[in-house]
Amino acid sequence: MNVLVIGGGGREHALAWKIAQSPLVEKVYAAPGNPGIDRLEKGICVNVAADDFDVLGTYIDVRRIGLVVVGPEAPLAKGIVDALSSRGTRVFGPSAQAAQLESSKSFAKDFMVRHHIPSASYATFDNPEEALAYVRAAGPPIVVKANGLAAGKGVTVASTVAEAESAIQVAMVENAYGSAGKRVVIEECLAGEEASILAFCDGKICMPMASSQDHKREFDGDGGRNTGGMGAYSPAPVITDAMMARIHQEILEPCLQGMREEGIPYTGVLYAGLMITDDGPKVIEFNVRFGDPETQAILPRMATDIVPVLEACCTGTLEGCKIDYTPWPCVTVVMASEGYPGHYQKGRPIKGIESAEALDNVTVFMAGVKQQGDTLVTSGGRVLNVTACAPTHSEAMKKAYAAVRHIRFDGAHYRTDIGQKALKYL
Ligand code: AMP
Repeated sequence: MNVLVIGGGGREHALAWKIAQSPLVEKVYAAPGNPGIDRLEKGICVNVAADDFDVLGTYIDVRRIGLVVVGPEAPLAKGIVDALSSRGTRVFGPSAQAAQLESSKSFAKDFMVRHHIPSASYATFDNPEEALAYVRAAGPPIVVKANGLAAGKGVTVASTVAEAESAIQVAMVENAYGSAGKRVVIEECLAGEEASILAFCDGKICMPMASSQDHKREFDGDGGRNTGGMGAYSPAPVITDAMMARIHQEILEPCLQGMREEGIPYTGVLYAGLMITDDGPKVIEFNVRFGDPETQAILPRMATDIVPVLEACCTGTLEGCKIDYTPWPCVTVVMASEGYPGHYQKGRPIKGIESAEALDNVTVFMAGVKQQGDTLVTSGGRVLNVTACAPTHSEAMKKAYAAVRHIRFDGAHYRTDIGQKALKYL
């Protein structure tokens, strides 16, 4: 079978890498893909726009694609699954309506209230004056979120009223996130440890993957601005078996059942961003696709062929599937461009990927990377995901950072504490 992966970041490289390991798969196409995918023996990058569903459909027919796997949220929110599956293609991902769990924070919050899924208390505003009055009355700490998709950057955890006011100004008045910030959701600030649980879903049941933890802020010790994610590790030891059982029962199952009851059965990956509070797990956000960079830390641990699992999600036959993970922990460190998540330069030559990958159990997933002649150059904010597995968590950290030190590009920025949070539990 041929598989088409939609997207071109580190998550899509990890997906294509894992899919290519399946004996069921002949070729892995990626639109647009990246040089990391192109270098896979089965990998082929194609220049087809993910939002031109007619052209994509024709391409799928010509290349005899048997399964499409959608990486990013934007094409899901635009209805890629509806468009392609209506013409008979098997597509892994939720419908546009179901994707509202991520594309509209107010939809997600209202849904969680309707189905008694634990989450932060909140209020929704379309008027900046009312939003300002609310944060002044509620006081800090308080969280201001752009309602729509903002590439992980539309959230401000404000520790002062002034910070919350400024976040409202930026989103609603200065329109920094375009229409995504016209409406804001203002939330109670939850305290605790964060973790991500991603689950395969077939519309009826779900099967959680190994736990993981992302690092959203740009600097060590969770300082600086929110980013798309600066690194991740799996498993997250804060998620004990007992906690996983609670998350399944109190969050994932009610979510799947709620979506079914509302006539929008959920298929694909459901990603629950959680805060493990003293009162138990609470949802910070739902995403409707594989996490980036969590996927880069989870898939190297997955011992099972992923392709039958992806197909079972599409055909409603997940029941009875068994998915195994190796016990070795995995750590992925994001190497980013200088200035990210703000303005950054592109086109800086990258050296040392081969020598990093010569280390045992190290894989470098490419994200913001472009091939320019014989040279790889930076082409995005998050450039590389340097990933290592090892028998213990601290060895995986050490190995990931040893690999990072083999790689050079001007202005490379990375956190030096990815994985540190897990150590206190071990
Ligand atoms: P989100 O894009 O909704 O995942 O938010 C980005 C980050 O902001 C999360 O990973 C948390 O670190 C933080 N955050 C979001 N909502 C809350 C909340 N209600 N309480 C505390 N932190 C939050």
